[in-house]
Amino acid sequence: MIPYLPLKEITASYEPEITFALQQIVERGWFLLGEECASFEKEYAAYIGSRHCIACGNGYDALWLILRAYREAGILHDGDEVIVPANTFIASVLAITNNNLTPIFADVDPTTYLVGEKELREAVTPRTKAYMMVHLYGQCAYSDAIGTFCRERGIKIIEDNAQAHGSQYNNRRTGSLGDAAAHSFYPGKNLGALGDAGAVTTDDPTLADTIASLHNYGSHKKYIHNHAGINSRMDEFQAAILRIKLRRLDEDNNRRRAIARKYIENINNPHVRTPHIEKSDAHVFHIFPLMSAERDCLRQHLEAHGIQTQIHYPIPPHKQQCYQEWSHLTFPIAERLSREELSLPLHPLLTEAETDEIIAAVNSFQTV
Ligand SMILES: *Cc1c(COP(=O)(O)O)cnc(C)c1O
Repeated sequence: MIPYLPLKEITASYEPEITFALQQIVERGWFLLGEECASFEKEYAAYIGSRHCIACGNGYDALWLILRAYREAGILHDGDEVIVPANTFIASVLAITNNNLTPIFADVDPTTYLVGEKELREAVTPRTKAYMMVHLYGQCAYSDAIGTFCRERGIKIIEDNAQAHGSQYNNRRTGSLGDAAAHSFYPGKNLGALGDAGAVTTDDPTLADTIASLHNYGSHKKYIHNHAGINSRMDEFQAAILRIKLRRLDEDNNRRRAIARKYIENINNPHVRTPHIEKSDAHVFHIFPLMSAERDCLRQHLEAHGIQTQIHYPIPPHKQQCYQEWSHLTFPIAERLSREELSLPLHPLLTEAETDEIIAAVNSFQTV
């Protein structure tokens, strides 16, 4: 069986460093807002190329904190419109609705699976105040044209960089391209913790200061509360693990790119489409999305050949039960992708023999 993501083996490949670091924290006896967290914030900000980094509890909280901080600053208000891709993980949308803001879904480009300039122009209204830019599957969704379009209209760009740590646009990393960015370090992400963790990056000192307060009960100074904040902190164990894994992130991403290139060059089954890649440094292949009108049969075929796959995502947010108010909307490309997407195993430990086996199995798929 080729597993979709062998987290146990991936974790073992960072030993003995992880166990050693965890042991040191136990001995130090300081578990929150300590030196590991402060060092991670500094190192991750430098990696992304942002002035500020605030470590927090998870990727959703990072998204929510950014929007909440803009509300605290009087930049966003109840009901303001935030554009979000119709093709994304629901966290991107929940951060908007849980801040009393209105999501405006934009359909995606059928070749990149991302919101492009055209889709953005179609979704924008005079009430648009922010654009939640999701670098889905690991591919950068920013362009200078989009940046200029938003800046001219005073639209804040909030990057959802949960899937794209290390991806680049003209030598600048995603997470440093918009006004603020949310990062998830969920275990399966390219940079993954061994539990929940997340971060915000931004160049905006006021926003950074508000978020640094908001994520710790709205307080900079113990028992002095300037904001009605929440508790969303990254613990010292996760920070230490992420510091170790960050050192190998570029190497891991390059390995992912090499596997993706091999898939694209060798998969030639007429019943499947491989992703279209414009620039290799703009993609870190958190997910390798195959598209097939026969997705469910293909999935069964691969399962029968001992290959585990995933679907990202089977139901788009606007068709979820919790969002019935938007279920009448249709976004044809996003909805088609939800029927056709199949994610192949792709991670830094995947061997040449395994990729050969996966390619052969995909190419041997026939429809009945
Ligand atoms: C994983 C993910 C999130 C949420 O991250 P968590 O750390 O699980 O809260 C948000 N957006 C996207 C696109 C994701 O893939």
